Amino acid sequence: EDGDRVYNFAAGPATLPASVLKQAQADLYNWRGSGMSVMEMSHRGKEFLSIIQKAEADLRTLLKIPDNYEVLFLQGGASSQFSAIPLNLCTAEETADFVVTGSWGDKAYKEAQKYCKANLAFTGKPGKYTALPAQNDIKLTPGAKYVHICANETIHGVEFKEYPDVGDSVLVADVSSNFCSKPIDVSKFGIIYGGVQKNIGPAGVTIVIIRKDLLGHAQLQTPTMFDYKVHADNKSLYNTPPCFTIYVCGLVFEDLLANGGLEAAERRNLEKAKILYDAIDGSDGFYKCPVEKSVRSLMNVPFTMQTMELEAEFIKAAAAERMVQLKGHRSVGGVRASIYNAMPRAGVEKLVALMKSFHAKHSS
Ligand code: PLP
Repeated sequence: EDGDRVYNFAAGPATLPASVLKQAQADLYNWRGSGMSVMEMSHRGKEFLSIIQKAEADLRTLLKIPDNYEVLFLQGGASSQFSAIPLNLCTAEETADFVVTGSWGDKAYKEAQKYCKANLAFTGKPGKYTALPAQNDIKLTPGAKYVHICANETIHGVEFKEYPDVGDSVLVADVSSNFCSKPIDVSKFGIIYGGVQKNIGPAGVTIVIIRKDLLGHAQLQTPTMFDYKVHADNKSLYNTPPCFTIYVCGLVFEDLLANGGLEAAERRNLEKAKILYDAIDGSDGFYKCPVEKSVRSLMNVPFTMQTMELEAEFIKAAAAERMVQLKGHRSVGGVRASIYNAMPRAGVEKLVALMKSFHAKHSS
């Protein structure tokens, strides 16, 4: 359909639906007869207010967000939330528990140490982050203010299918790399947050979904821009928001709703992931995915081959067929195919076809 576009397997910023890009292109110069581009509009004008309100309403519909949660559109990336969360939920003397199942959870844990007592309730590091803990493996601190997990580890490719039971504590999840890829029961969480640049839109916005009773307890020295209550009271318009990014996110939400919502997105994602994992597992060990089968990510599929030379040759062969960004993260190497919502099934099938021909070529 789009002969000029590649299949982009990047982990982020990642591919967006072609229909959304075309709509954004059409609106770029003159948004719906307003005589302005969205990037030229006042963030307090009625046009932009209609855009951000519709984006929030559509996200609420998609995720079935209960009324006792605020939806915030913030800046600074998910990385900023690694500091904002302890600043908003803990005093310096209070404890937060961290379930570390990959590099991103580890970053959140390390950053939180600056602002509260961060306790390592579990780490998957000895097992090279290829598995998730059983409930008994998680050593929660009685009285901890919250328990942090990374719902999907983008680099290591492990994804929670069920969430830990945290008792009276508050579950906080970084969903940067599986946001809106499947339904999620928001009521189980105190905070769900993520950068949008994988499943939802261009880089520049971080969405924070927060239970209202958690607002208003920020540490005194919390920068105003990191205080969730300030943003909630101002409906994400305390300062100039990234208007254009929010607008594109809104287009993606509309597109998801028009295509059956998150239940349908999950079905598509399950199908795509199965095609790829089946190809890996059915290759007699030519391709290997180190992640335990029951917790493999539907979004980020890391795999390795016998040598780095073979991997490099494979990535080059893929690029020659216009399948790009397949190199594994620099910290783990190998190959990584990120197959977010907007990756068409045909892209995964084309990758699998190459995997088969490449294997055949190298086994003769
Ligand atoms: N958390 C996860 C799971 C990620 O994948 C990433 C980025 O790839 C981040 C956090 C950091 O996000 P940002 O670049 O928006 O700060």
